[in-house]
Amino acid sequence: MADYIHVSVAWPYANGDLHAGHLAGAYLPADIFARYHRLRGNHVLMVSGSDAHGTPISVEADKRGITAQALFTHYHERFLETQRQLGVSYDLFTHTDTENHHRIARDIFTLLNERGYLYRETQQQFYSESEGRFLPDRYVEGTCPVCGFENARGDQCDNCGSLLNALDLIHPRSKLDGTPPVIRETEHYFLELGRLVPQLQTYLQDKQHWREAVLNETLKNVADLRGDPSPRH
Ligand SMILES: [Zn+2]
Repeated sequence: MADYIHVSVAWPYANGDLHAGHLAGAYLPADIFARYHRLRGNHVLMVSGSDAHGTPISVEADKRGITAQALFTHYHERFLETQRQLGVSYDLFTHTDTENHHRIARDIFTLLNERGYLYRETQQQFYSESEGRFLPDRYVEGTCPVCGFENARGDQCDNCGSLLNALDLIHPRSKLDGTPPVIRETEHYFLELGRLVPQLQTYLQDKQHWREAVLNETLKNVADLRGDPSPRH
């Protein structure tokens, strides 16, 4: 009996051209897997697409002085052409700026919110007074508190590899105009993952076809979610 195989390939940010690492790391292995299952007569659906949203897009667009939409459109078309020439056998290569994607993302958020799986929490974040906007981690640079490297990014230091909290940077400055940002409070939504542990464990129970190391790592991560501080209502 034929199996149904969904190959869900990582969605690249449309903020620069694809390189050999993308191909070797994600698309070629997925393509081999999909072709193998098609040859075996299984029903294969191999899907991916360009990610049109997120800080990596807006940082690059700001750097070039164009809109995020223009940057995304440019690279999405190049992704399509590159993968067509390479012969990667997608059943669908779409993007996240479609009506379908908007509706599904909104529905998931609304449903989680209605059923009480989301909670709000106030955090501190850098704010640029000159630009009048909050600055995500990647918009802030400064001196690494671990190694003293002067051009560390808000989320990571490229010199020593330490993962950073932007608020810990010494002499922080905005990547947009170099001015020092101030700290302001901002409210965000969070998913209460700890409450979904039983459902996740049930889902994982029959995944014996996964690699053992992958399954064990996943089970361990899910068990750890239990220890999350219980949210404040
Ligand atoms: Zn460092």
